[in-house]
Amino acid sequence: KGPDPDIPLIQDNLSQIQHKVLVLSGKGGVGKSTFTSMLSWALASDEALEVGVMDLDICGPSLPKMLGTENEIIHQSNSGWSPVYVDDNLGLISIQFMLPDSDAAIIWRGSKKNSLIKNFLKDVNWGPLDYLVIDTPPGTTDEHLTINNYLSKTNGGIDGAVLITTPQEVSLLDVRKELNFCLKAGIKILGLIENMSGFVCPNCKGESKIFKPTTGGGKALAKEFGIKFLGSIPLDPRIGKACDQGQSFLDMYEDSPATDAILDIVNQL
Ligand code: ADP
Repeated sequence: KGPDPDIPLIQDNLSQIQHKVLVLSGKGGVGKSTFTSMLSWALASDEALEVGVMDLDICGPSLPKMLGTENEIIHQSNSGWSPVYVDDNLGLISIQFMLPDSDAAIIWRGSKKNSLIKNFLKDVNWGPLDYLVIDTPPGTTDEHLTINNYLSKTNGGIDGAVLITTPQEVSLLDVRKELNFCLKAGIKILGLIENMSGFVCPNCKGESKIFKPTTGGGKALAKEFGIKFLGSIPLDPRIGKACDQGQSFLDMYEDSPATDAILDIVNQL
């Protein structure tokens, strides 16, 4: 087997991207895509920055809805695919844009998913970007290996991965696997985030620990692995509401403790 002919094409296509950040989680439903959307909104709130979002959660693409672009379709030209623009400086690419309707299920073998990932990396016309934020499938899959294999060979490689967990033991166990995967694959870890960490009652301001871990949670896990603990994001039911409306929670609910927590995390990245 000779050298992979796609590598130089991917290197060329992504050569004008300064930073590439992966968002990972051990299991689904912990807020990985929600965090991807918040990180993207937060970065793009600086008009001087050009931000791209690549939704590689192929079997569960949720970013088009979260970023308010659910019904868009993708435009293809001779020179490749154009991202869908959420804002002047915020573009998104997702398989969702290529499906006939949003309920269409994707039942694909690994090889087909991997070739789509390759196409996304080689054929999307981003132009120069300051940040490319990449949402990945939950768990450690073949797709992760493909993403890492190609991106690590591009100009600047991958800056690193942000890992999302909840305080629940089941999530912590899975994120442990994800951490080991990153170590094995040589993916730098930017830090761990604990999402849904507690609920601050809007009336009495008292905090309830809804998913109380017995092991000390994300912070203890980060310490054990010697990685940075980026912070805890509390539960706020309005997060789901903003995501369902495709709007930036950070802009809508500046008063939420979750907004403070998210902005503090983004500032550390
Ligand atoms: P994943 O990408 O890990 O599968 P999602 O980002 O889709 O998870 O989040 C799962 C659900 O949890 C969504 O309905 C989302 O709105 C909700 N959610 C995520 N984080 C929070 C939070 N901090 N507070 C309240 N709801 C949240």
